[in-house]
Amino acid sequence: MSRRVQIVGGGLAGLSAAAALASIGWQVDLHEAKPFLGGRATSYPLHPSEPDSERIDNCQHVLLRCCDNLLDFYRRCGVEGKIDFYSTLYFVRPGGAVDRLERGPWPKPLHLAGSFLRFGFLDWADKWSLISTLQALERERKRADLDTVSMGDWLLGRRVTERSYERFWRPILVSALNEEPDRSSAKAAFQVFADGLMGTRTSYEMGVAAVPLAELYDAAGDGRLGNNLRVHTRSRIERIDPASGEADFYIAAVPFERAAGLLPELDLQLGEFEHSPITGVHLWFDRPVTELPHAALLDRTMQWMFRRGESYVQCVVSASRDLLPLSQAEIVERACSDLREFFPQAAKARLVRSHVIKEVRATYSVKPGLEASRPGAVTKIPNVFLAGDWTDTGWPATMEGAVRSGYKAAEAAARAASQQTEFLLA
Ligand SMILES: Cc1cc2nc3c(=O)[nH]c(=O)nc-3n(C[C@H](O)[C@H](O)[C@H](O)COP(=O)(O)OP(=O)(O)OC[C@H]3O[C@@H](n4cnc5c(N)ncnc54)[C@H](O)[C@@H]3O)c2cc1C
Repeated sequence: MSRRVQIVGGGLAGLSAAAALASIGWQVDLHEAKPFLGGRATSYPLHPSEPDSERIDNCQHVLLRCCDNLLDFYRRCGVEGKIDFYSTLYFVRPGGAVDRLERGPWPKPLHLAGSFLRFGFLDWADKWSLISTLQALERERKRADLDTVSMGDWLLGRRVTERSYERFWRPILVSALNEEPDRSSAKAAFQVFADGLMGTRTSYEMGVAAVPLAELYDAAGDGRLGNNLRVHTRSRIERIDPASGEADFYIAAVPFERAAGLLPELDLQLGEFEHSPITGVHLWFDRPVTELPHAALLDRTMQWMFRRGESYVQCVVSASRDLLPLSQAEIVERACSDLREFFPQAAKARLVRSHVIKEVRATYSVKPGLEASRPGAVTKIPNVFLAGDWTDTGWPATMEGAVRSGYKAAEAAARAASQQTEFLLA
């Protein structure tokens, strides 16, 4: 007998749960409050009143090759070919010197060692500190108490050099976790290195969508994920009533700040959750400012640059609390001033237009001790399940985490219907 499931939330968590359950023949109704799918990982028209308006991503999103479930979801949608992967990651210093992180001929875990040793932005003491700290990380990764310690404290305990902290550990961790090392659980930080950088010879490769993010989800609306999946955009669900009979099962796939209102009877205790912001700065110049496809920008406010077109770049600042009080003009000025220091061509370029997006509620803050507060997919109401990047996924707030939560909720719903199905990979 075909089961009916109502999914609330059309972000990656809801979409992946929908794709999974539609694939086993369930009747799926997906409700999304906004006019478009993708939630926090999406794009929208810059000028909604103009029919041909350019679509921009709310912010540049990247994934790593180790994001198995996200890539599986993209495969289901037929869009895995729309992700460009980079096996060389660029680090740029003020003044323009470029370093590369890329794998060498050695097997894991030495595949990146050649790059570490060549890094021009670290001296020999920093490199020694970096390599010995990575070894310590490998030795201690099974420690049971890692979620009780901040990564900042753990690094302090390893006596990492100041320069390796500022130019290696902090840039990687802040962009991967959207939180400062001092405020991040060491458990989450360890995972970035264990699964991402050091997991396999290719796991560190960075993927960037070659199309606006919203286009990745077209398959959900056009029947490619099955005619049994119906998408309802502009459909805000104020409250899930599990006894209404509208569906057999319900999945709430909304951010943590929305979940309690949607399901008050669950009495979710989410007081420990806080947000961490991300700021994206879109800049269109009158000429190209760099040939690099992307770069981690060291020692300045802007943390990453992504080239999105000939003369269009996006800068990203994670855990961007310091930027929140600034006006858009001040943020644009800071981004342009940073770019001029990194890329000589930017000094000659004229800014044609700009757009700043401050996502104050970008992700939850991955602070120490929070793991225990992340609920699983199963709730005390037998036909109601939770999904979302903030639930207990084993991953920090990322697109991979969101898809993992969607697959887990779909598996739990299938189990409740006595169907043993596995969607989650790895
Ligand atoms: C600026 C920014 C940059 C990021 N960069 C990266 C990155 O580079 N790499 C990475 O992996 N992750 C990144 N993330 C994190 C990533 O976007 C999220 O972890 C992920 O998209 C969360 O998906 P989700 O489905 O759990 O939640 P959401 O995407 O928030 O989806 C929830 C959906 O529910 C809808 N909704 C809420 N209430 C209701 C209701 N009552 N009725 C109907 N619908 C409702 C919302 O409109 C939303 O579409 C970034 C996030 C932001 C904001």
